Amino acid sequence: MSASGSIVILTGAGVSAESGIATFRGPGGLWEGQRVEDVCTPEALARDPALVHRFYDLRRAALDTVAPNAAHEALARLDAAWPGELLIVTQNVDDLHERAGARRLLHMHGELRSALCAACGTRRPWRDPLPPATRCPTCGAAALRPDIVFFGEMPYAMERIEAALARADLFVSIGTSGAVYPAAGFVRGAAASGAATLELNLERSSGSAWFDETRLGPAGALVPAWVDSLLAA
Ligand code: NAD
Repeated sequence: MSASGSIVILTGAGVSAESGIATFRGPGGLWEGQRVEDVCTPEALARDPALVHRFYDLRRAALDTVAPNAAHEALARLDAAWPGELLIVTQNVDDLHERAGARRLLHMHGELRSALCAACGTRRPWRDPLPPATRCPTCGAAALRPDIVFFGEMPYAMERIEAALARADLFVSIGTSGAVYPAAGFVRGAAASGAATLELNLERSSGSAWFDETRLGPAGALVPAWVDSLLAA
């Protein structure tokens, strides 16, 4: 890997697990005690907005109780030091990458600390609880919702991500189960464009077979070791 090489890094819930944030597919397939269909679909938001808003209010408030771990810090170090192109694409809705100092970062599935107006599409930073029917300061509609990309909705910045994957010399996937599309398909897109592919995960994901190499272990150990070896080379 030359120092001018282009790197795309995809992160998932596993990168934040050692910070104390539960992964998606926790015990019993629940996310923080809820069925995914009850809190992570447009239908759920329409059916029971109070439940959905409260769920994300709790996740947003919990961000005050967690901190970036060694994996977030190592990725921020790589971002600062890497002279070539680099893009961290996170599926996570927490803010631990940016709190660790990462700058070349995209939240493809939205952000807990952001609110989206369902009427005019404006996104704005949001740190407080967000009751249903909160008015949008931009257009006045009572339509602010959590800025989370639900199942069936289009992730953010797909054109930019696909362009980066097409230019990538190296694609690295960290702490993601490979179960949620389109992110799960990124490895094949990058490989088709000639990138080397590396998976860092606690256990083999459903897409493991697509990677040139898989290293198994906790992100807090694997990621700093990988970043050190890349920067040393
Ligand atoms: P997932 O929960 O489906 O998979 C997590 C993966 O991380 C698994 O493969 C697991 O083996 C691995 N893992 C667990 N602990 C790890 C560790 N210490 N080190 C390395 N790997 C570890 O998560 P996903 O693939 O990211 O997809 C789930 C969706 O859930 C995303 O869309 C995301 O928006 C949402 N989500 C986000 C957060 C967050 O923001 N932190 C948390 C839960 C879910």
